[in-house]
Amino acid sequence: MTGNGEKHDKATIFELSRPGRIGYSLPPSDVPEVEWTTLLPASMLREKQAELPEVYEVDVIRHYTELSRRNFGIDNGFYPLGSCTMKYNPKINEDVARFTGFAKIHPYQPEESIQGALEVLYRLQEDLRETTGMDQITLQPAAGAHGEWTGLMMIRAYHESRGEQRTKVIVPDSAHGTNPASASVAGFETVTIPSDSRGLVDLEALREAIGPDVAALMLTNPNTLGLFEERIEEIAGIVHEAGGLLYYDGANANAIMGITRPGDMGFDVVHLNLHKTMSTPHGGGGPGAGPVGVKAKLIPFLPAPIVACREDGSFFLDYERPHSIGRVKSYYGNFGILLRAYVYILSYGGEGLRQVSENAVLNANYMLKKLAPYFDVPYERFCKHEFVLSGNRQKKLGVRTLDIAKRLLDFGYHPPTIYFPLNVEECIMIEPTETESKETLDGFIEAMIQIAKEAEENPDLVKNAPYSTVVQRLDETLAARKPVLNCSCAPY
Ligand SMILES: *Cc1c(COP(=O)(O)O)cnc(C)c1O
Repeated sequence: MTGNGEKHDKATIFELSRPGRIGYSLPPSDVPEVEWTTLLPASMLREKQAELPEVYEVDVIRHYTELSRRNFGIDNGFYPLGSCTMKYNPKINEDVARFTGFAKIHPYQPEESIQGALEVLYRLQEDLRETTGMDQITLQPAAGAHGEWTGLMMIRAYHESRGEQRTKVIVPDSAHGTNPASASVAGFETVTIPSDSRGLVDLEALREAIGPDVAALMLTNPNTLGLFEERIEEIAGIVHEAGGLLYYDGANANAIMGITRPGDMGFDVVHLNLHKTMSTPHGGGGPGAGPVGVKAKLIPFLPAPIVACREDGSFFLDYERPHSIGRVKSYYGNFGILLRAYVYILSYGGEGLRQVSENAVLNANYMLKKLAPYFDVPYERFCKHEFVLSGNRQKKLGVRTLDIAKRLLDFGYHPPTIYFPLNVEECIMIEPTETESKETLDGFIEAMIQIAKEAEENPDLVKNAPYSTVVQRLDETLAARKPVLNCSCAPY
């Protein structure tokens, strides 16, 4: 790890090491010993023994437990990361995912023996169809970005099936970086259009960019400023008239469940991030799911297989899809995650999901109103489930948005998203979600107000934060580009 000011209050596991000390002893072997060096090619063998710590079992356990406590997650505290919807992971989801009947099945089992699992997938498809207003769903994609790419490949196949060569995808400047990235990976050229003074799609800019070479417009609604595109029907009209399709980035679906649906707004393809809207764990790049829904005209291009239901009520995997773009994920997607999302939907029900969105929007507006006197508010309007502030006022005092984020760590909060979206200077993007108590919201608001005061009275205090963490300021770029992953140069 790169950084300064590392604290070493406790002895590291290397300092605890004593030659010959062992953590666990096995009984003497009663099978003939194999000379293991003969099992591997010489080029793969170590030249000298690895320098591993020699410690007791409890030391190893304490070491890893200590490391795990340094991680911050939604089960540790408030995590208002805008755009990412870091909502809670209900424990009932975990209980059901561990049922033997779900956890121990194999994807190659005969269909008759996994009817229950297929039914879960089928019903989840149906529920997501209903919440998004689309005609069919694929559960295969493993993340939002993967869903974007899958959707764009279908859009491509659709235009090609009509003999049209459309090479461009339009995205607004407030879009998430995955939008242009997915467009590029799917072989399109990205055209970025500016937002208007209210933070919404600039219709004039859209009219100028649209044409017979445009395959799709990708939109997030509410957008990444937390603002609803009020003229979405007009936008859809402009794109459809020119023969293009509308792609809905569903990362912000936590704001609209049971209130409005992308299908009704005119979108043709939608992805949902189940780790955002449907309470499944975000994981550290671990298994995820980004199901994609499409309108009828795109159904032929969906990845195969789709889970389908026969007239007799039995479920099967439908591979008969001659125009499919092909498989985009092994088997049928990440079943354990899909199952958790289905449990979440069932435990809330339709009315419950609507309340989730209403409370998420209420919490965001409450915080926005309370923080507005202390920070610049670039778009002072009713927001949806998230809102953006600007740290411009504090920047004039020498305190940057990054400093504010670092100082929040000392108050025990995960900082909000910063410097995104790109069209707001010194952006701070806050998403409280629906599950937090008023006391938690108030605690965070107080911390933000306190930091705003510190910026005026004692800017250095903010600029040198954090003080309470194991490591202080990291060179984050260097740490990401050239990570040092072995223990020999930094004990932790
Ligand atoms: C999170 C996010 C994505 C990407 O989703 P992943 O599931 O992280 O791949 C795309 N767009 C927006 C607006 C997002 O917030």
